[in-house]
Parts: sequence; structure tokens; C-alpha cells
Amino acid sequence: MTQTIAVIRGDGIGPEIMDATLQVLDSLDVGLDYEFVEAGTGALESQGELLPQATLESIRKHKVALKSPLMTPVGGGFSSINVQLRRIFDLYANVRPAISFPNTKSRYSNIDMITVRENTEGAYRSEGQTLSEDGEIAKSEIQVTRKGSERIARYAYELAKSTGRKKVTIVHKANIIKTASGLFLETARRVAEEYPEIETQEMIVDNACMQLVMRPEQFDVVVTTNLFGDIMSDLCAGLVGGLGLAPGANIGEEAAIFEAVHGSAPDIAGKGLANPCALLLAAAQMLDHLGKQDKAERLRAAIIATLEAKDSLTPDLGGSGTTSSFAAAIAKRVAA
Ligand code: ATP
Ligand code: MG
Repeated sequence: MTQTIAVIRGDGIGPEIMDATLQVLDSLDVGLDYEFVEAGTGALESQGELLPQATLESIRKHKVALKSPLMTPVGGGFSSINVQLRRIFDLYANVRPAISFPNTKSRYSNIDMITVRENTEGAYRSEGQTLSEDGEIAKSEIQVTRKGSERIARYAYELAKSTGRKKVTIVHKANIIKTASGLFLETARRVAEEYPEIETQEMIVDNACMQLVMRPEQFDVVVTTNLFGDIMSDLCAGLVGGLGLAPGANIGEEAAIFEAVHGSAPDIAGKGLANPCALLLAAAQMLDHLGKQDKAERLRAAIIATLEAKDSLTPDLGGSGTTSSFAAAIAKRVAA
């Protein structure tokens, strides 16, 4: 039976990069059907809602969504759609691969790592943030749970196992944030014991940042709490050449949403200038998630070969190609 996924074409450059991505997936013959649903400013205009019920139902039903960037209107008290989706589906794992690609503006050529960030607790709960009435004292509570730590650690080790990765680095600050970071570390250690075939390394977050900048090739899978993961995953994106090549996934037990890290870039929308690579790499992550690792590998290899050949690259990569000519060049290589 063919699996169906929910597809959100999104706002700004969203529709262009989604069309390009689906064109490549067709050439790769991934055996997926698509249910197209709306979200974002497009949905607000056509259906009067930023996040229509039918969209939520489609994600709930198919459990997997490929999503282009969405625009949340400024003002009007709208809360971010991405944050809403994370809450509604309890998407606890934010998974961001960082791979060095040829012919990109990156400092290193040997990075191949994935950051697994806990996405629901830590320093990010709005409930724990207060300001005294006189405005002189701000407090921010960090809440870490054993359950939350266990499921993120398990996700990281299972990801390492299923994608043939060898090492997991647990990043923490348990020497200073003794209870919250300590509970995370202790729980992750316990999960690590169940995976003796995978090497476990522990690293304090400040050292991890220095190591990332000096010797990033030593990292394979990194697992950490919300705030550290937020900072480290952007650091990693920067190390491999920035937004146009950075994919991400938000994963929960009921659903998983795969997307580009960049936004809707309205300044270049509709001009055929957008680089589709970040969404294509998100699609590769999705194929891994669906157990189609061979297709995911072929897709990544085709992207690398196209970059290497400098074939039809978009202007952000120094080429003079367009979104669709770049996608066609990648499609040609996945089919080969
Ligand atoms: P949003 O408000 O949705 O975040 P944005 O314009 O801030 O939209 P960002 O992703 O933050 O979008 O991008 C910043 C700039 O980087 C864009 O204005 C655009 O010029 C460039 N950019 C982002 N994504 C791409 C892409 N896929 N291809 C080419 N350029 C991009
Ligand atoms: Mg932005």
C-alpha cells in the first residue's frame, strides 16, 4: 500500500521549493502519495484560519508532514504556527543534521553530524518565566523531567542505530545546573547503557561549543536539552554554510513534521531564486524516518554530486540557475 503524507506548500518561497522537492521525489520514485493541505498566511486568506482543522486532521491521520516555511502575520496577536504545531502534536525532538557540502561557503569540509534537541521543556516553558511587579527581578525556571530526558535520549540512540552512526555525545552543564542538567545527564547515561554498540561521550556545553568550532569532525549525534540545542544547532548550521542548506525535523509519538530551517523569504518569492536544498534535505530526513534509508542516501548523494558539478546552482550558492533548473539537475542525478 502506498503511504500518504500531508504536504504544506506554505508561504513566500514555500510553493516554489515544495514543487521543486516533489519533482525530485518523483524522479527518486519514493512511492508516496500526497495530501495537500494549507497553513499560514495562505490558509488565512483562503480559509480564514492560520491553522485549519483539516490540516491538523491530515497530519494526525498520516502522521508525517512535509512542510514549507509559513508566514505568521505580524501583529494581530497570532502566535507562531510552528510553536502551535509543536504543542498540539507534542513534537519533543528537534532533529537538525549538519553536513559539509562541496562548493558552499563553509569553514569545514568534513562535518557530518545531527543535533537532537529536546523541544518541550528545559528553559522554554513560558509558565516558569516571571517578572516582579516593580520590574526589578526576572525569574526563569528550568524544568527537566526524567520522562522528557529519557524519550529524547532514546530517540537519539535509536536514530544513531537506525542510520548506522557510531557515537552519541550527551551535552550538558550538570557541574553548575546541578538538578536540571544533572537529571538529564543521569537519565541519558542510563539510556546509553542499553546501547553498548554505540560509543557515548559526555561533554559540558561550553567545551562542546569550542570543540564544535575547532574539531567538528569528532561529532556524530549530539543530544541535549532545549536551550543548549537551540544554540548549538544554529552554530552547526553556520559551520556548514548557513540557511539555504539547513533542514530540520520536529518529531513526536503521534506525528513528525519535516521542514527547512529558513523562513518564507518574501524578498525573493516568485522569482525562481530560492535554493530548494534545505527542503530537499528535510525530505531525505523524512525518508530515513519512513524506513526508506536507501532512497534518503541516494537523494543526499545526488545533491552532493550536483553541488560538486556546480550544475545549475541558485544565486545564493554563486550560480546562475533557478529553483527549477537546480531541482532538475538533482532529479537527473537521482534517476541515474
Ligand atoms: P520569515 O519571516 O518567514 O522568517 P525571512 O525573510 O526572515 O522570512 P529567512 O529564512 O529568515 O526568511 O531568510 C533570510 C534571508 O535569507 C531571506 O530574506 C533570503 O534572502 C535568504 N534566504 C532564505 N532562505 C533562502 C533560500 N532557500 N534560498 C535562497 N535564499 C534564501
Ligand atoms: Mg527570518
